[in-house]
Amino acid sequence: MQTPEELSRELAKSTAYHEAGHAVIAVTQNLPLCEAGMHVDSKGNGVTFTLRRNPGDQNNARADIEERERSIIMIYAGNIAQEKFSPCSRWEGSLGDDTIAEALLSEMYSPPKGAEWCRTQQRLWGESYKLVYGHWKAIEALAEALWAKPMVPRVDLGPLSFHSQDLLEKWMTGYEVKALLEPFSVFASVVADSEGVGTLRLFFSVPGWGCSPV
Ligand SMILES: [Zn+2]
Repeated sequence: MQTPEELSRELAKSTAYHEAGHAVIAVTQNLPLCEAGMHVDSKGNGVTFTLRRNPGDQNNARADIEERERSIIMIYAGNIAQEKFSPCSRWEGSLGDDTIAEALLSEMYSPPKGAEWCRTQQRLWGESYKLVYGHWKAIEALAEALWAKPMVPRVDLGPLSFHSQDLLEKWMTGYEVKALLEPFSVFASVVADSEGVGTLRLFFSVPGWGCSPV
């Protein structure tokens, strides 16, 4: 049986799996990682910086739908990977991730939570689930590498530091993530934190767009 200390350590570590799920599945969806990389603090808060479609642009052409779907698949991967690592983390997963996925779905299908909305939500969740399980070795290696990092004073990322109030964290740059994933044939591209491609953005590059702690 686990002691309370072991359980809370497992739950904190499950954040590394959550973030690794986002990072690996982002790459499978051709979403670039950002230089700012991946961060987890000692209290179970984490963030991975990728470019992705953010809610707010109502255009709904084929290309917009495709960007939203790739982004939603990446967003779902965090909670799926975290729960695969630790079933007890079901209640630790990010509600913020689900909120953003729902907002993106609602830009494509009306009414929200209508039949087409729900069918698409289930399809994208299923695709994300398959990808997480199919890339588990890469996710596990990345999560363990992040968790093996020393706790260091938290890097000040300016407006990107909103995910944590902790003074300490473990972190990896986008380039370290890219190098670690290559042996798994997962080939990431890394962009500067200030960069955006088309409608894929980090939040501080376009006021009003949201970069969530995915
Ligand atoms: Zn997340």
